[in-house]
Amino acid sequence: MDFKFAKRMSQLRASEIREILKVTERLEVISFAGGLPAPELFPVEEIKEVNRIVLSEEGSKALQYTTTEGYTPLREWIAKRMNSKLRTQFAADNILLTHGSQQALDLSGKVFLDEGDVVLCESPTYLAAISAFRAYGCEFVEVPTDDDGMIPSELEKILEKTERAKIIYVIPEFQNPTGRTWSLERREQLVKAAMKYEVVVIEDNPYGELRFEGETLPSLKSFDKTGCVLCLGTFSKTFCPGYRIGWIAGEKGAIEKYVLVKQGADLQCNTIAQMEIAKYLELYDIDKHIEKIREVYRKRRDIMVKTMEEEFPEGVTFTRPKGGLFAWVELPAHINARDVLEICLKKNVAFVPGGSFFPNGGKENTLRINFSNMPEDRIVEGLKCIAGVLRELI
Ligand code: PMP
Repeated sequence: MDFKFAKRMSQLRASEIREILKVTERLEVISFAGGLPAPELFPVEEIKEVNRIVLSEEGSKALQYTTTEGYTPLREWIAKRMNSKLRTQFAADNILLTHGSQQALDLSGKVFLDEGDVVLCESPTYLAAISAFRAYGCEFVEVPTDDDGMIPSELEKILEKTERAKIIYVIPEFQNPTGRTWSLERREQLVKAAMKYEVVVIEDNPYGELRFEGETLPSLKSFDKTGCVLCLGTFSKTFCPGYRIGWIAGEKGAIEKYVLVKQGADLQCNTIAQMEIAKYLELYDIDKHIEKIREVYRKRRDIMVKTMEEEFPEGVTFTRPKGGLFAWVELPAHINARDVLEICLKKNVAFVPGGSFFPNGGKENTLRINFSNMPEDRIVEGLKCIAGVLRELI
């Protein structure tokens, strides 16, 4: 059959990460590629217990359809958590549960983007957000970004001349892919600009709870006086990604629109997943669990930074993330990270070349390192291998 696909399909490409992840399923491969949490930290025994309780006490409810908005006790917990950690003022009504925060990105495209609209993003930015928004026919303007976040004067210049700017998409905490965290001033300046130009801000925050050092900074939302900031969150990195439960939080007027498009997408999130997470939060101490994750990732971050400092040749720079799952490496301009990957894959080491994190292309001399998924000895072994390849190429 000669399928007559929608025009948007010509814009979409298979994600490079998904392709690399197929290789990394082989056990012998040391993978710095996906953003996978450490699977040994999943609370399997506790989940068995909550599954048993939910099914035996409320089985018929757990296996039934539920509301599009989601299970109220879980939405109440999320609102309270955000208010205490992020200085927001949400109630359950401000929260819509989504299948991962990835679905919230897709729904955001559906709610806000007409063909030709512009999404402003950090440069580089999260690859799967690019794919989600791109499907709605938008264009991307990458805002020059340094270690503290988007550069406000550059953002203003772009907003001034970009009539169709619809969304500013940012990841202020331990960004994917760079691991960088925005300064307080930059957060405030971004929200001021967004309020002035009346552009929606999508504050994507999957990693904020995974801070290894320093103080948690106020969210962008905490500076918002007009309701322009919408917040995305997820249980993927603090609990388990397999449940696929995340959320979007914002003003009721916007959340109502998200509810309409979610009804068209999948009616609602998996009922039993929502109830099991709520039961886990009722019976167990999630803070203790998150502390355990932080402890393990902190050590992996430390050994990663130490090894890169000792082994990487001169001319290679990298970020030293204070939390999250990723570090970002810049190679000398003439080195293409895809060439480095090709050699590393033959030696059973994988990472993601950085080029595809730039929606408009460029910067092929960069790469992303995930440090959460491999034990410390394999992190050292894998980075030494990358360093060896780099030494040869440089
Ligand atoms: N946003 C960012 C910045 C991410 O890194 C990820 C996952 N890697 C997501 C959203 C989506 O996560 P999930 O759908 O599992 O919540």
